[in-house]
Amino acid sequence: MALPKSHNYDPKHVFDIMVIGSGIAGMAASLFSVNRKLSTVQAGSVGGTLFASGLFDLMAIHPVEEKRVWADPWEAIAALRKQGSLHPYARISDDAIQSAFEEIASFLSSAGMAYRFEKNRNLPVITSMGTIKHTYCVPESMWHGVEAYNEKAPCLIIDFNGLREFSGRQISSTLREEWPGLRAVRISFPDTEGLNEVHPVHLAQALELSAVRESLAARIQPEIREARYAGFPAVLGIKKTAAICAHLEKLLGIPVFEIPMMPASVPGFRLKEIFDSVLPPKGLLRLIDKRVESVARLDNGNFILNIGGPDQEQFIQARGVILATGRFMGKGLLSDRKGIYEPLFHLPLHQPESRISWHHERFLDPSGHPINSAGVEVDDSFRAVDGTGKTIYDNLFIAGSILAHQDWMRMKCGSGLAIATAYAAVNAFINNFMNKSDRITA
Ligand SMILES: Cc1cc2nc3c(=O)[nH]c(=O)nc-3n(C[C@H](O)[C@H](O)[C@H](O)COP(=O)(O)OP(=O)(O)OC[C@H]3O[C@@H](n4cnc5c(N)ncnc54)[C@H](O)[C@@H]3O)c2cc1C
Repeated sequence: MALPKSHNYDPKHVFDIMVIGSGIAGMAASLFSVNRKLSTVQAGSVGGTLFASGLFDLMAIHPVEEKRVWADPWEAIAALRKQGSLHPYARISDDAIQSAFEEIASFLSSAGMAYRFEKNRNLPVITSMGTIKHTYCVPESMWHGVEAYNEKAPCLIIDFNGLREFSGRQISSTLREEWPGLRAVRISFPDTEGLNEVHPVHLAQALELSAVRESLAARIQPEIREARYAGFPAVLGIKKTAAICAHLEKLLGIPVFEIPMMPASVPGFRLKEIFDSVLPPKGLLRLIDKRVESVARLDNGNFILNIGGPDQEQFIQARGVILATGRFMGKGLLSDRKGIYEPLFHLPLHQPESRISWHHERFLDPSGHPINSAGVEVDDSFRAVDGTGKTIYDNLFIAGSILAHQDWMRMKCGSGLAIATAYAAVNAFINNFMNKSDRITA
């Protein structure tokens, strides 16, 4: 391919890596790339991370048809491998997965969003539906909820008039039998009296002010009585959550915790804010809200990516690409009457033979649906392969939920899969590609 002739293109400016996608996989890939001193550019719209609950699942359910819940996520992964599963975890060692989690947790902690996990144990977390979700890594702000649930300690859940996504009453009534000491109270959030609806992000922003916290605590205080913990919807600030939790604990005299909510999620917003603000000073060129519209390959193997479409073309040249564009929701995969396809590189996909077999007959079939395991197949270096197992491009690496042979939603492995495969993909780029050729940096 000839180099594009455009004022928006500098042919001498070559990045090591272009990360496409800004969900957890894309963000993690950018972090791992800049930590390894690769010159990195990332494009992607905000969508993905805003939906994330803030919990980082590793692996909780396998096999999905039996809905077997594992107390130890590593045992679940070992079982998966033993059964010859093609799940992406079968291509990554436990040590590498653990290192990936540690690197992300350490980054987030230094940016003010600490995470807690126990090495060999899934943690029980109360959801806004009153169910218990088993996950691996929880934001520090949710940690006391794990303790309160384990102890079945007397606990008060607070919710707010007009906050539609969250009902303390539903949580307490769903869990009443196993947790009789759980109680709910609904109050008005300061300065929202009379409003029919309040938005989680607005509450979180308001709580950044200490006067609002004092006013809120004064309303809650008479309701505490015997409670030894206080649970809140996950709206305890955007940038100062640790300080806000500590202040509320001081005012109320008991430990407080957050309960993850339905999207749009404030912890997801926090993650997005951290990645978007902390990675660029570390060297990432972050093209916020930009989509890669098309891709071409030069004779030397470098990719040229067209960002922004016909009216606002901008071209980026990179020696390697991490494709982390997710599945159908973010348009990483598309479908029509003939099948499922990947729109950027036109990669061959693992998918059901025909449209009729995308779904089982019953919507709630316990084994999920074949379409949920469709995606890109890879080699051990996370490079896309064709139907014969042949690597398609030596410098195209795949990460996250676009990968085949996993049903992250049912297996409860979403963020773990995204983080671990981003780690494997970036390291594979360095080991398989960068070390074998002269490095040109931007
Ligand atoms: C409602 C919800 C709740 C969740 N809860 C949990 C949970 O409790 N625990 C957990 O571990 N995980 C959870 N997850 C999963 C997790 O947040 C991630 O969605 C999942 O891990 C997949 O991440 P990903 O980065 O591969 O894909 P995505 O999150 O889908 O991100 C892909 C991104 O790529 C972008 N993109 C696509 N095409 C292009 C292009 N051409 N150019 C640029 N950008 C492009 C998309 O717009 C999107 O932003 C949840 C997800 C959702 C949706």
